[in-house]
Amino acid sequence: MVLKAQAPADGAVLGSFEETPVTEAGQIFENSREAQHSWGALSTVQRLSYLKRFRHVLVDLQEEIADIIAASTGKTKTDALTTEVMGAADALKHVEKEAPSVMSNEKVKTPIHFAGKASYINRKPRGTVLIVSPWNFPFQLAVSPVAEALAAGNTVILKPSEDTPMVGELLRRLSSLFPEHVMQVVMGDADLGEALTSEDPDFIHFTGSVSTGRKIQEKAAQKLIPTILELGGKDAMTVFEDANLQRAAKAAVWGSFHNSGQVCLSTERVFVQAGVYDSFLTEVKQEAAKLRQGKDEDADIGSMTTRRQYEHVKEQVQDALDQGAILETGRAPGDWDDSSLFIEPVILTNIKPSMALWSVETFGPVMPIMAFETEEEAVTLANDTEYGLGGSVFTSDIGRAERFTGRMRTGNMNINEVLVSVANFHLPYGGVKNSGIGKYHGRDGIRSFCIETSVLADKGTEDNEIIWYPNAGKYDLFLDMISNFWGRRRNWKSFIQSYMSLNKF
Ligand code: NAD
Repeated sequence: MVLKAQAPADGAVLGSFEETPVTEAGQIFENSREAQHSWGALSTVQRLSYLKRFRHVLVDLQEEIADIIAASTGKTKTDALTTEVMGAADALKHVEKEAPSVMSNEKVKTPIHFAGKASYINRKPRGTVLIVSPWNFPFQLAVSPVAEALAAGNTVILKPSEDTPMVGELLRRLSSLFPEHVMQVVMGDADLGEALTSEDPDFIHFTGSVSTGRKIQEKAAQKLIPTILELGGKDAMTVFEDANLQRAAKAAVWGSFHNSGQVCLSTERVFVQAGVYDSFLTEVKQEAAKLRQGKDEDADIGSMTTRRQYEHVKEQVQDALDQGAILETGRAPGDWDDSSLFIEPVILTNIKPSMALWSVETFGPVMPIMAFETEEEAVTLANDTEYGLGGSVFTSDIGRAERFTGRMRTGNMNINEVLVSVANFHLPYGGVKNSGIGKYHGRDGIRSFCIETSVLADKGTEDNEIIWYPNAGKYDLFLDMISNFWGRRRNWKSFIQSYMSLNKF
């Protein structure tokens, strides 16, 4: 069986790639487990030398990589370079910098009643990690978790999306920079993903849709396999009357139309305070009119990546128009050029909760704009979704921005910015509600790929401990010790006296 890579714009066949037979899943895991012994035995610094070389090769090949990504996804070459190549290089650099300290034993405090002991957290690799990645950022969303997992000493089995097999093949080429079977890239669809999930990975990192995430989580739950799930979103941008309107309008246009809206953190709902609604709409339409679609380096927006996604967006826009939405910018679906996957950016107003695009992830270049009156109403509207990935708020009152952010049930927020919190690798990243479970990026990311052993260590010189046997005669001394240390008033002298008496048993 082969996976065909097709150009999103015109369907031209770009290449054919051998699928990994589902029957090989067991052997792939065996190889991975075997390789993990020596990879995990390397020091963190030794492992990072491979990741550093990986980063250097990635930068040497940046144009070729951007070309492959752009051809595979329909995104512009500049977008491929900035969000995919630069994003992956920065993810690697971050891991190189943080992993040595994250992977060292972390000392924590030891309370006084454990006098003479030390406590620390010891981190080690989980083992073999399965990483399943999507098609919308097929390079960066694969490299970033792979880097964290490998730095922590795991071996990795990566299954990239079957919709972008040329990027999968590229990742397979790059995997040869590591010792054999340390990073195995397999090619295939849901059947292969399911077969791999059934092989009892020690950890699963999944990025993709809510429905697939649920299937993976159900399977993982049966064996108590820990997971990180990075799923969909329905992010809201909230614009208050005191915002820099021009900035907010430009941000909305980039936030909604970047990568043709095929971004998990895409701005899918824009709420604007009533007093500036008309001016904002005018600004946003002017900004949208300046955009140029195409495939060249200077184009702003490329095409959709898959026919399936194109049809989904088309249906949602048609549904909204059928229910009375007003088309402010763009074309009605009947006028779309179905021979390509380009969708002209769409701005819609007169939005109602009954429309699918109110609640269902669009994942396309569509910006619905709605008005609100009060801050309270804005909080309710922005949180009115099953998703909890990200969001943004625009206001010149930083107190209000922080108050608003504090009430958002989302894993990520941007203040007077949009999307980019995910690109700061010092910030942990992940969603809440139906947008996922767990975090990666940041120091938390490397930790997520570790088993953490909490250690309390004693020198072993004393023969007994106050809490060990015998119990006889200790009860009243413990009463004293508790009242004098944890009671209303701390009495050090009495506490030490009871402690010393207990020590004599
Ligand atoms: P998808 O769920 O269809 O596929 C994702 C991956 O899962 C693919 O590699 C696919 O082959 C694999 N897969 C499918 N069924 C499987 C199964 N039963 N077992 C194991 N693997 C299986 O998602 P998609 O269409 O590729 O990606 C788009 C979705 O991803 C959107 O909802 C988007 O919001 C979400 N996404 C989330 C983030 C995030 O960080 N939260 C980032 C990017 C995309």
